[in-house]
Amino acid sequence: MQASHALAAGGHQDMVWGHAAVRDPQGRGIWIKAPGWGLEEVDRTRLQLVSFDATVLAGTGPPHKECHIHLEVLLARPELVCSVHTHARSAVAFAALDVPLLALSHEGALFGGDDVPRFRETGALVSTPELGETLAATLADAPAALMPKHGLVAAGRSVPAAVMHAVLLERACQIQLAAMAAGHIRTCSDMNEARAKRAECWPESQLEAGWRYLLRRAPGAMPS
Ligand SMILES: [Zn+2]
Repeated sequence: MQASHALAAGGHQDMVWGHAAVRDPQGRGIWIKAPGWGLEEVDRTRLQLVSFDATVLAGTGPPHKECHIHLEVLLARPELVCSVHTHARSAVAFAALDVPLLALSHEGALFGGDDVPRFRETGALVSTPELGETLAATLADAPAALMPKHGLVAAGRSVPAAVMHAVLLERACQIQLAAMAAGHIRTCSDMNEARAKRAECWPESQLEAGWRYLLRRAPGAMPS
């Protein structure tokens, strides 16, 4: 619930589309918002527990068609606690340019000087376990990946980390779009500086600080 509210506060709303999933502590599957609700509208009655074979165990209605994103990402990497999928606008616009994501800012240094992975299998819905598996393989151990023609996926060992990875990727895309629209990019961090900045700017403590800020900005959300 807090993940949805923090994503909404971070500008990831797309009406009723996009979701975060948190691994069930008892290993039964994932907790995810029920279809038909916006991120900022989620409350305890609008959550579902979905098993790893996409069966709704608690909550009402069918599962999200794209629940396979979360099921396969969290199945592939047992150390992860949370995954995020949104249709963040700057991420979609930036992915359409098909140019490398540069470390222009602190946000851009999240990938340590590497380009962001991109899921190229389809721009349509990730509506099958097979597509979810391919997406999970694309993400691998990166903090987030772009889904050209669609959105982004992010993941983390904690809920704050997964949410912040999504927020930082969107902001990095926004900054590079602004720079490219203004002119030729003349400076960015090289690999060494980007790696150092990733370690310095984005330790768990900073991700949690950003997460707490987002929760304070989320109407109706209770800061943890
Ligand atoms: Zn989607």
